[in-house]
Amino acid sequence: MTAISYDDIVKAPKALLHDHLDGGLRPATIVELADAVGHQLPETDPARLGEWFVAAADSGSLERYLETFAHTVAVMQTEEGLHRVAKECALDLAADGVVYAEIRYAPEQHLESGLTLDQVVDAVHAGFQEGTAEAAAQGRRIRVGTLLTAMRHAARSQEIAELAVRYRDQGVVGFDIAGAEAGFPPTRHLDAFEYLQRENFHFTIHAGEAFGLPSIWQAIQWCGADRLGHGVRIVDDITAGKLGRLASYVRDKRIPLELCPSSNVQTGAAASIAEHPIGLLKDLRFRVTVNTDNRLMSGTSMSKEMALLSEAFGWGWSELQWLTINAMKSAFIPYDERLAIINDEIKPAYAKLLG
Ligand SMILES: [Zn+2]
Repeated sequence: MTAISYDDIVKAPKALLHDHLDGGLRPATIVELADAVGHQLPETDPARLGEWFVAAADSGSLERYLETFAHTVAVMQTEEGLHRVAKECALDLAADGVVYAEIRYAPEQHLESGLTLDQVVDAVHAGFQEGTAEAAAQGRRIRVGTLLTAMRHAARSQEIAELAVRYRDQGVVGFDIAGAEAGFPPTRHLDAFEYLQRENFHFTIHAGEAFGLPSIWQAIQWCGADRLGHGVRIVDDITAGKLGRLASYVRDKRIPLELCPSSNVQTGAAASIAEHPIGLLKDLRFRVTVNTDNRLMSGTSMSKEMALLSEAFGWGWSELQWLTINAMKSAFIPYDERLAIINDEIKPAYAKLLG
């Protein structure tokens, strides 16, 4: 294998399925928006603020980790704030060589200043539209779909699921639930998932990140999740390369795992990138995808995640292509659109890189 450079990884097309809108803001934008709405920040210098976010997420303290989102969500309570954050998200991903992204956020967390759920979704979509148009004008083509997230400790999942379906032809491609896993099993939201299935809609569930197999089992067998947000704890059902019933089911059905290596190391779900189960799961040919989760808190990007994996596992362009095509195959947009991106953009670019 020839060593691959970070600059070449940036240029290579990439697909991203698991990225939180409130976890990917530019520090300078947080400073400006906080100033406009009178929100107090721990640091007002953008560079130092960026470092503060990574350090707080690294600290191992749940309190400090949650505080990071209190600051980003606080500056995303107006149409202007949401619009700007979404626009910059599209621009930043496009500059990083991401050609397809599904960005998730929880509309119910953006109502503190009086916006309605519909106003939140409209503002985010207008921002993504402007960002993708601006990126295209710079010669960078990116498509962005959104996933609407319901918070698992709250009781609004049915309402958010209905909101997602109402906006399905205006950029919302799926639904998700997020938040503390322990004590809040996905079956609490069964009504919402059954509704989405009756509507022929797509959804993923944060499961098997901090919490183990029962959460993954419920997400798939009770709720009918199309994909697993993280799902990394599926390794608990693999002993010396031998798969248990649940792990077999996940692999046999090609259920995509939205793995987020750096984020998992920060939360303690993996000890290091080199020890992350992604190596084993790839070798066992699970439908593995690589994701950023929270770019700001993890100080990461798609290219950085790919570079870290390449370094830790010796992966080259063929592995990076496999991961990218896995993600595209697992996207929530229609089959023909997925195929077009794979055949027209991903394969030709990697064919050149593979020489
Ligand atoms: Zn997540």
